[in-house]
Amino acid sequence: MAIPQHRETATIPCPYCERETTVSVPDEDVELEVRRSVALYGDHTTVECSADHEFWVYFC
Ligand SMILES: [Zn+2]
Repeated sequence: MAIPQHRETATIPCPYCERETTVSVPDEDVELEVRRSVALYGDHTTVECSADHEFWVYFC
């Protein structure tokens, strides 16, 4: 399986402590939606901030 070399990142604030956290995104034009709990649908990634808060970012 080919993995694209090109990788975009975005910086988003943690919903718990507002520390900025860098996440990988599939596309630079994608809209990010931060959730504190996981949903059953959609492309998403699990993010941990530097204070060990775990949250989910959805790509809209
Ligand atoms: Zn945090």
